[in-house]
Amino acid sequence: AKSDGRGTYRIFQNEMNVRLQERLQLEVDLRQALQRSEFELFYQPIVNIESKQIVTFEALLRWHHPQKGTIPPTTFIPLAEETGLIVPIGDWVLQQACRDAASWPQDVRVAVNLSSVQFRRGALELSVTRALAAAGLHGSRLELEITESILLHDEEITRDILNRLRVLGVHIAIDDFGTGYSALSYLRSFPLDKIKIDRSFVQDLSRETSAAAIVRAISELGQALDMTIVAEGVETAEQLRILGDQRCTQAQGYFIAYPQPAAQLIRVIEELKAV
Ligand code: C2E
Ligand code: CA
Ligand code: CA
Ligand code: CA
Repeated sequence: AKSDGRGTYRIFQNEMNVRLQERLQLEVDLRQALQRSEFELFYQPIVNIESKQIVTFEALLRWHHPQKGTIPPTTFIPLAEETGLIVPIGDWVLQQACRDAASWPQDVRVAVNLSSVQFRRGALELSVTRALAAAGLHGSRLELEITESILLHDEEITRDILNRLRVLGVHIAIDDFGTGYSALSYLRSFPLDKIKIDRSFVQDLSRETSAAAIVRAISELGQALDMTIVAEGVETAEQLRILGDQRCTQAQGYFIAYPQPAAQLIRVIEELKAV
């Protein structure tokens, strides 16, 4: 029994070492990923529910690891944030997204996800201005998606940055709305254009009438505050129908289209036109 215990401990320690080593290796790889051009942006359309028109493509980052294959952002973004690498990676995302958007129809915007670290450690305003200028894209074609947590830290600085970005015509969207400890007061005190209702509410739409009531309430709030309401994670026709009934204006999700490489977007645009 004694040796069992020690053996278990040793195995546990080995496992820890293996995990630590994997993490360190991933960090080494992540540091080289930019130079090695291993990142790619996929795009997922956001449509107007009534007109079915594409209004925005959201840029979603993919990392094609030379050995491990494609690693999802939920795995490497936290690591990129801890190491500060999210600042140069985020700059690349902004530049690539603006460049891609420059070739799309004029009425389609591009949405880029921002990390709180880019607010705290990066020169965000400069990065945005540069990306727009380099691509020859007007600020009004760009949407920035931020989470509630960004608004709760460094309120003054964040408000300043958002206000200056908005002067450029850039739209600001609140991502994953309803999942944080949201104080609704920030909807008034920050310059926001769009609310993205989190997927968890959308998924419960058919089973739960309370989810529909929440969507309705957010939609009405959006109307009163002159903000666009988007539902994310729409996976069924029924969800889309209920969202429309609850006066939600825009939708995004696998039911409409999966995220796709930039080269596929012309086809996505044509397909959605044909619906
Ligand atoms: P998010 O911003 O909430 O993006 C939506 C996520 O939901 C995406 O996952 C998308 O592929 C997925 N999704 C879209 N439609 C559906 C659906 O109908 N059902 C389900 N179950 N999922 C759907 P993805 O691409 O894996 O990205 C995960 C998260 O990683 C994003 O969540 C965002 O927070 C972060 N992320 C992605 N790209 C970037 C980036 O360039 N910069 C930063 N800072 N974060 C990023
Ligand atoms: Ca997002
Ligand atoms: Ca989201
Ligand atoms: Ca999310």
